[in-house]
Amino acid sequence: MKKILVTGAAGFIGSHLCECLLGEGNEVICVDNFYTGSKKNVEHLLDNHYFELIRHDITFPLYLEIDQIYNLACPASPIHYQRDPVFTIKTNVHGTINMLGLAKRTKARILQASTSEVYGNPQVHPQPESYWGHVNPIGPRACYDEGKRAAETLFFDYHRQHGVDIRVVRIFNTFGPRMALNDGRVVSNFIVQALRNEPITIYGDGSHTRSFCYIDDMVDGLIKMMNQEEIIGPVNIGNPDEISIKQLAEEIVRLTQSQSEIVYESLPSDDPQRRKPDISLAKSKLSWSINNHRLDGLKNTIEYFKKVLND
Ligand code: NAD
Ligand code: UDP
Repeated sequence: MKKILVTGAAGFIGSHLCECLLGEGNEVICVDNFYTGSKKNVEHLLDNHYFELIRHDITFPLYLEIDQIYNLACPASPIHYQRDPVFTIKTNVHGTINMLGLAKRTKARILQASTSEVYGNPQVHPQPESYWGHVNPIGPRACYDEGKRAAETLFFDYHRQHGVDIRVVRIFNTFGPRMALNDGRVVSNFIVQALRNEPITIYGDGSHTRSFCYIDDMVDGLIKMMNQEEIIGPVNIGNPDEISIKQLAEEIVRLTQSQSEIVYESLPSDDPQRRKPDISLAKSKLSWSINNHRLDGLKNTIEYFKKVLND
């Protein structure tokens, strides 16, 4: 049994990760300041004696004894990370330094939840880990994407300078149950709009693309990355099944049998045009692959939001 710290554990990905780690027989400490996450996401785990919930902001130091750290704490949706950009970059820099310091003192292995946003608006397609990216350092997304780039730098410097045992994963767009209703991300927005028969808001003309990974595959990838000895990363984890935002809207309208019409709004600045992971590294080094088709994942997510809207 390992003692595992998950930061940002009351969020969407973190809550699923905790569930899985507990299921594998580990002791899990969940740290979250509830900035975008919610106690409700981990409510069902509170009775488990091997689960502990701590309200804490990782921009402040934390003293615990642990074997592994998954560092997920950070607002992830553009509307949330742009609400308080200074807090976002502080979480990525001060917060990351605190968690790396904790890993250094306890000799814990630490995994960073980095992001496809480090590639910015990519000029290489699909994106391999060797691509350095095309990021605007002063735009509205910079607090997040430059913050995550700085966090990667800190991980590799702590590794080279202090011998910290690191793993870095670049997460591509992920979706599933427990995304927040007011999250503002495209999958949750479209599903909620469709279920309410409200207009589906496409930003731009909808020809831009993303590649959506179902949460179960993401959690599987994170745990595989943490528990292998071959590479420290960065490794892309995501579903290479690329789809345009317009196709996604049409897919969700069809699956929900919605009466919603599609409306077009302006595209936010610096919104990437295309995104698709090259996952050869994850496949060969982690023996990881996609097990859930987007359509099945969307069906589960639609059922989840139906319940949330009826509560
Ligand atoms: P989320 O917003 O649901 O979860 C983030 C959690 O971190 C929330 O519970 C929030 O309250 C907590 N948090 C934020 N700042 C904190 C701080 N300073 N101290 C303590 N807790 C803090 O987002 P998510 O989708 O679950 O994303 C989890 C991680 O994965 C993030 O680091 C995100 O950047 C990364 N990621 C997610 C995606 C995606 O598509 N969901 C894509 C790329 C990367
Ligand atoms: N998007 C959209 N309508 C919405 C929400 C998002 O068209 O109601 C677009 C957004 O501009 C982006 C894509 O969908 O091009 C994915 O957005 P999301 O916020 O989910 O993720 P990210 O931009 O971080 O990939």
